[in-house]
Amino acid sequence: MNAASPRAIPSVDKLLSALDVTAIPRSVVTRSVREHLDELRRTTPLEIPPFDVLVAQLRTKLTALQRSRLQPVINATGILAHTNLGRSPLSPSAATAVYDAARGYSNLEFDLESGERGRRGAYVESALALLCESEDATLVNNGAAALALILRNLVRPARNEVVISRGELVQIGGGFRIPDILETSGARLREIGTTNRTTLDDYRGAIGERTALLLKVHRSNFFMEGFVESPAHAGLAALAREHSLPFVEDLGSGALVDIATLAPVNHEPQPQESIRAGADVVCFSADKLLGGPQAGVIIGRTSLIQGFRRDPLFRALRCDKLIIAALQATVEAYLHSLASRDSKPPGDIPVLAMMQIPVSELEQRADRMLTALASLPSKCEIGTGRSQVGGGVCPRSFIPSVTVRIRPNSISLDDFAARLRRGAPPVIGFISEDSFQLDLRSVPPSQDAELISAIHATLMKEPPEGRDP
Ligand SMILES: *Cc1c(COP(=O)(O)O)cnc(C)c1O
Repeated sequence: MNAASPRAIPSVDKLLSALDVTAIPRSVVTRSVREHLDELRRTTPLEIPPFDVLVAQLRTKLTALQRSRLQPVINATGILAHTNLGRSPLSPSAATAVYDAARGYSNLEFDLESGERGRRGAYVESALALLCESEDATLVNNGAAALALILRNLVRPARNEVVISRGELVQIGGGFRIPDILETSGARLREIGTTNRTTLDDYRGAIGERTALLLKVHRSNFFMEGFVESPAHAGLAALAREHSLPFVEDLGSGALVDIATLAPVNHEPQPQESIRAGADVVCFSADKLLGGPQAGVIIGRTSLIQGFRRDPLFRALRCDKLIIAALQATVEAYLHSLASRDSKPPGDIPVLAMMQIPVSELEQRADRMLTALASLPSKCEIGTGRSQVGGGVCPRSFIPSVTVRIRPNSISLDDFAARLRRGAPPVIGFISEDSFQLDLRSVPPSQDAELISAIHATLMKEPPEGRDP
């Protein structure tokens, strides 16, 4: 084939009108078209596809771009606080609070009593302190920011050593490595003990004139078994007090209730326990087991918390009003329910509710789903699932669950998974034991109908009759 002339490349305008895409802003579409044509121009020898083919290529590209917009998905992975899928869903009351705060003005930094400037988040901070049994509390954007602020604020040039066990120099999720956070905060790592064993004497031996604080980090997504030892919190707290050093703990998940009472999972350390055991400062994420929005909670001694609030970095890390609205509703739900006579965890926090759903209930839903899927060109059956908390919590605990297993007759499992992922709404499941599986524990029952429609649409190209698409 002879090289085509660059002048034969269709104009952007002509392609735009042929594409006629309205779902994403025109300028975004235009940029994609330009980029595509630029790529085309760079091919040697220049080969220009027929106009229809070019339009089809662009359509594929734009559909993928449109799909990458933030949008709701159905999480059928069985991982409840799935970091890639937005961690914990908010409770209905928290979601309503976000909506209300978003739509108008609020007393975010305004004191309605005096008519003067008020402190952002003052109410939710005091509510959090009460809930966590600590003197004071404050908030920043996420757990990593909380730890960075604490370290930066407590480390001084002449006192910059942070004593931490070698067993706790972990990486949590993508891009969060404890040694790196320490370094960027101006701290010097004073690692002690060994990977599996660190004693109180190791801590004692490392304390010197340059020590800034003792740091304990919850291993979260990583666990050790066997010849393992680390000192109890109370011993560390006493040692820190003896040397007038702060004892700081990064707890990660913010389990305000004992999750081992809700589901067959290991006990996850709770902020209140650390405070009771004498920790001076504790930080954790608000969007893991707490079930709130993305935020980093810092609790502990008033004198230290006040220092964090005054730190110039604090202003750069402060939470937005939508976060405060969501967190306020979430924290109040805990305070209401823990004050009730049976002191049950709040029923409307989705991540806690999903942990507690009985397998029999999931089986009933799976049964109904099989009936609704019976006509499809596939083999469907009920399987057993192993749900996980996610978000780095209890990595070795599996909650018994129920899956719907699907084997399409005429397309591969990978193809089926991709089509469901690219559907509307996108459905995320997993392939295991020669089937595509949907774990129902992480799917709210209110999404069952949508899930069924999505599967029908994928296997039939048409939704079943009588169902809303
Ligand atoms: C999850 C986690 C973090 C990071 O929190 P983000 O809110 O994701 O920034 C930090 N430390 C520990 C121990 C964690 O488990």
